[in-house]
Amino acid sequence: MTSFLRNVKIPLQINKGKMEKTKTTLIKNGRVVLGQNVTRQDVLIRGEKIAAVSRLSNHKPDIEINAEGLLVLPGAVDTHVHFNDKFMHTVSVHDYYSGTLAAAYGGVTSIIDFSNQAPGDSLVSTIKNKKEEAQGKALIDWGVHPVITQPTQRTLNEIPLIVREGAPTVKCYMTYRSEGLMIEDKDLRLILERLRKAGGMLMVHAEDNDTIERNVSSMISAGLREPIYHAKSRPIEAENRAIRRCIELARKTGGRIFIVHMATDEGINLISKARAEGLDVIAETCTHYLVFTDRMLERSDGIKWICSPPLRSQSVQDSLWAGLRDGRISMVTSDDAAYSWEAKLSGAGRFDECPNGIPGIETRLNILYSEGVSKGRLSLARFVELVSTTPARLFGLTPQKGSLAPGTDADIVIFDPEAKWTMNKKTLHMAPNWAAYDDIEITGKIVKVFSRGDLIIDEGRCLAEKGRGRYLYRKLDLPAPTSI
Ligand SMILES: [Zn+2]
Repeated sequence: MTSFLRNVKIPLQINKGKMEKTKTTLIKNGRVVLGQNVTRQDVLIRGEKIAAVSRLSNHKPDIEINAEGLLVLPGAVDTHVHFNDKFMHTVSVHDYYSGTLAAAYGGVTSIIDFSNQAPGDSLVSTIKNKKEEAQGKALIDWGVHPVITQPTQRTLNEIPLIVREGAPTVKCYMTYRSEGLMIEDKDLRLILERLRKAGGMLMVHAEDNDTIERNVSSMISAGLREPIYHAKSRPIEAENRAIRRCIELARKTGGRIFIVHMATDEGINLISKARAEGLDVIAETCTHYLVFTDRMLERSDGIKWICSPPLRSQSVQDSLWAGLRDGRISMVTSDDAAYSWEAKLSGAGRFDECPNGIPGIETRLNILYSEGVSKGRLSLARFVELVSTTPARLFGLTPQKGSLAPGTDADIVIFDPEAKWTMNKKTLHMAPNWAAYDDIEITGKIVKVFSRGDLIIDEGRCLAEKGRGRYLYRKLDLPAPTSI
């Protein structure tokens, strides 16, 4: 009986396989952004991949979508998000379901999260923990940057292992000593040397801890406790000082340093000079520095905008836009760090007890289009580079992600460039019951989002199945190690 069933079952499976046709979707007549070109094309999806970008009028797909008057963009890639992140006596409220849900609504089809090393943890175990957190929850594809907090010999020896595990980008903090996150420069150097040899990149939160600790303690004892003093305690010079130290580390080791969430104008100059010298130093900035200034911290609800580095002046914001436009800043991420209102309120009486962070995983593509492209600060091609192509390339996701080129995963956003709407707590899907992006007039709206060929967002409805998101094995395209 058993062998009879087995005999029957096998041919049936083969037949089923032969009969099942890979589903095709044709997105017709959209304005397609492919590299530097914006042209009217059709995009053919076959299964999980982009099969063709061309005029395909004779094609008979299973599903046809008319994108007349709409833009067709590669899905956004956000390489800086904090899910389930334990920080300042609280935990960020975006998990792999709520965080990737909000991401999908925001046109994001790949995220890279941070896995913090707790005392005694191996780096490999931090990746394993994230795989458990994502299991059955993630709606989009995701990866991990391990965060080194214990620079022991054992941790250093693990660096080649995590690179092989598909997590070749490690983050370290130069501040938050009291949180147990800070790494001394001598250890940063050892980490960077190991990463360079293993084909990895060091991401650095660059703020000078000594300056900040001194300022915070003198401000608190002088009774200066309002949110604006958060910004005053972390001045531009604290960031610049740390960036200079990072550049020195790149000079000494020949390793690649990526400055996360850069928010100073002098930082842009320092990095340009370092690159001109041949050093491998790159920087990103984040959405909130491009739309808010430190004036927000003077409001009665100023705790909403407490983040680190802090929001800066209008003139710094203008410089950041200029740096993005001309390429001195490589890309934009969200630095999504979503804390509950209850957690944020702990900073109402004194700024230094407010968890640093702004929920922003959903807003980046919309804000960058509206404030960037629509207001004439960025070209359409540059906007796509900043939110998708460059993050994919610098973080080892090319050629799988970050483009509409045939062969790439069919991660696609169909976008109405003319639609006008107001971004606020009600129109966003992020988990916290408050929003920093409140009452912002937006031009441009996401109509549909595809992830690996699946339609996951359709005109405001989420169709994604829980747990469909896959772990992203990443490999960096770095210059061969030199003999430094
Ligand atoms: Zn961050």
